[in-house]
Amino acid sequence: MNYRERYEMRREEGRRRRKRNARASIITLLVSAVVVFAVWFVAGGSKSNKDVVSGVSSQAVSSQTVSTAAPVAASDWNLILVNHSHLLPLDYTLPGLAEVVSGQEVDQRIVDTTKKMLADAKADGVTIQICSAYRSVPQQERLYSREPAQEPGAPTSVQAPRASEHHTGLAIDVNCPEFPQLEEGFENTAAFRWLDEHAHEYGFILRFLKGKESLTGVVYEPWHYRYVGVEHAKIIKERKICLEEYLQSQ
Ligand SMILES: [Zn+2]
Repeated sequence: MNYRERYEMRREEGRRRRKRNARASIITLLVSAVVVFAVWFVAGGSKSNKDVVSGVSSQAVSSQTVSTAAPVAASDWNLILVNHSHLLPLDYTLPGLAEVVSGQEVDQRIVDTTKKMLADAKADGVTIQICSAYRSVPQQERLYSREPAQEPGAPTSVQAPRASEHHTGLAIDVNCPEFPQLEEGFENTAAFRWLDEHAHEYGFILRFLKGKESLTGVVYEPWHYRYVGVEHAKIIKERKICLEEYLQSQ
């Protein structure tokens, strides 16, 4: 082996060594990345990301495991929030109204379940009447203008135009022949007791609870029921919360 050959050999060896070193550093880098990711994942770093993607908070997920029902995104049509601080969007379009009882209409998507609820109550010997359901914004304006002026911030009974969920066609006011008024005394009727026991099975919740006035902005109304869907209604009833609290936990 002459000088030139030895030189070439050493150069070749050097090249191989550099290649080996480069391969080793890449492997070390990859292994470190996997370790870092694993530590981050175990520490729960992925949780907030998942929340953002699915729109379901850990609280909602835990209630999901407690209850058999599964909350879904708050963007669902049946979870629309309309109240004093969430006015009906100006571009809100109803999918269509359907008559539920003579002279009263609801969102056509809930007409069957609403009719079934009344029929099943009747079969149990309880008469429930719907005295108000869908109301347009101009109808609400007329109602509101007849109301005496309210103290600002105080819970009200008649909502300002666009602050009433009756605009959505998802709310009903009910009474019964023995108690035709919309007053607190309705809670002492068989109709109220039947609804208290069964309304959630049809997707309805008692919307304005006693003790939640500061959150709903509305006085206790044992006659006002709101459709949210069976899964949500069950959880809301179980947890004795109002829709505002439920949506906040989503
Ligand atoms: Zn109402």
